[in-house]
Amino acid sequence: MNRFKNVSNCPKCGGTELGKGKQSGYAVMYPFNKMSFGSNIEYIICTECGYIIESYVKNPEKFKGSF
Ligand SMILES: [Zn+2]
Repeated sequence: MNRFKNVSNCPKCGGTELGKGKQSGYAVMYPFNKMSFGSNIEYIICTECGYIIESYVKNPEKFKGSF
């Protein structure tokens, strides 16, 4: 499964050198009403200008029912 396959270039600078990163540790995102669970965040970034093209939480199912 590759949910990033549709991304091919940067909408800001047109750069095609994209990178994939992730945030964890203090940067994890938590569901609003569940303080005990957190999810890492993954990013597709442009390595030319640094623009974050897409971001995803790693475990979206943890956020069900938090709205
Ligand atoms: Zn760019």
